[in-house]
Amino acid sequence: MLDAINAHDFAPDQQQGNRFILPPSIYGSKRFWKKCYHDAMAIVRFYGKPDFFLTMTCNPRWPEIQGSLLPGESATDRPDLCARVFFLKHQQLKEDLIKKHVLGRVLAHVESVEHQKRGLPHTHLIFWVAAADKPTTREIIDVTVSAELPDRSVNPELYDIVKTHMIHGPCGPWNRRLVCMQRDGQPADQPAKCAKVFPKTLRQETRVVDDYYPDYRRRSPDQGGHFITLTRLNGDAVTVDNRWVVPYNPRLLLKYHCHMNLEVVHTVLSIKYIFKYITKGQDRMNVRVHVEPQETNPPPPPEQHQLGGFADAIAAQAQGGAPAVAPEEPRRMDDVDEIKEYHDGRYLSSGEAAWKLLGFNIHWNHPPVEQLPVHLPMQHQFLMREGARINPEAVRAAANVRNKLTGFFHLCGQEDSLLRGVYPTNPLPYYRSSEPLEQSAL
Ligand SMILES: [Zn+2]
Repeated sequence: MLDAINAHDFAPDQQQGNRFILPPSIYGSKRFWKKCYHDAMAIVRFYGKPDFFLTMTCNPRWPEIQGSLLPGESATDRPDLCARVFFLKHQQLKEDLIKKHVLGRVLAHVESVEHQKRGLPHTHLIFWVAAADKPTTREIIDVTVSAELPDRSVNPELYDIVKTHMIHGPCGPWNRRLVCMQRDGQPADQPAKCAKVFPKTLRQETRVVDDYYPDYRRRSPDQGGHFITLTRLNGDAVTVDNRWVVPYNPRLLLKYHCHMNLEVVHTVLSIKYIFKYITKGQDRMNVRVHVEPQETNPPPPPEQHQLGGFADAIAAQAQGGAPAVAPEEPRRMDDVDEIKEYHDGRYLSSGEAAWKLLGFNIHWNHPPVEQLPVHLPMQHQFLMREGARINPEAVRAAANVRNKLTGFFHLCGQEDSLLRGVYPTNPLPYYRSSEPLEQSAL
């Protein structure tokens, strides 16, 4: 269906309106996130399942933020300050992980930064570590990830951070209005459930299961686990044990003093969920009111919607004639205008606006992914300077220039080719030279 629409392959009385696309080069656009998702999946195809999934959220009480506020200001008044401090912190986090190997030697990573509705930035980071550092056993997982309250007498600083930042809710009977409480798939007569599946089960030992994440060790008070008493806003006291602790890495938490959830990714089941989660883009809604035309008001004649004005112009110019000018077309209600949709349906918090105004990136992946062009025979694309004289000879010469796809076909025909596998694996042993085309290897 999409191919048919893109090719305007429909009868004159089934006009689908005009189509304006927003290319993936526009940060935050639908196609941008789609490209990020496919790039991430290309890394998965090469490296297999990732090993860790880390989420870090900006802490408005960081001294770097509080110490820079003017009298009377709060962190919510200064999205620019939060953006700058969080950017520096997440750069430091990446240095710790990728250069200092805090959780092992990182081979590849995919990261995106999002903003919560109240404006605070948070980052999702997925990474792959070297084979020798993979968290494959219960012992390694226990050293890397903790889902328990620390002993206050042994490590009071870590205790305070976990208490402040790493306790989920508590939701359920204590607070049914928390954002995690959802009714999806629940019968109408059943109460809402926590989407994050809290409280977790208490267990003496970590269990590696065929699920999204391992069941981490969460000892009960009887087994030596700790518990705390929290005071709710209404003054009620709630006793919280290890069932409510969000998994974390003690070393990173002590350094960054913020909400920082670390999960071991155990099975391939979690891959698509995680990657869709980090490349889902921002919340948006778009409502369009469409008025059906009356019988007495027939649609405009089909010639008015015949597209291909640019193709006609090229054809006319190639034959030495004057460029054909496409007739001005009226906007239709069923036009697909991604540029307009991007502006109209976007939810942009002040924090995200500040992040973008400061020119900070919202997505990273390493290693870089090369997108390979694919086209059908006789649909070879080429670029020309604006206003350049186009003649049939120039078009023929451009059509014979070898691009990555036709270069691949050429390589397949070489007897001494190093080619192994298929087109997507081709950039690994070969690269495309930036030398003039007649000298390039591919
Ligand atoms: Zn919950």
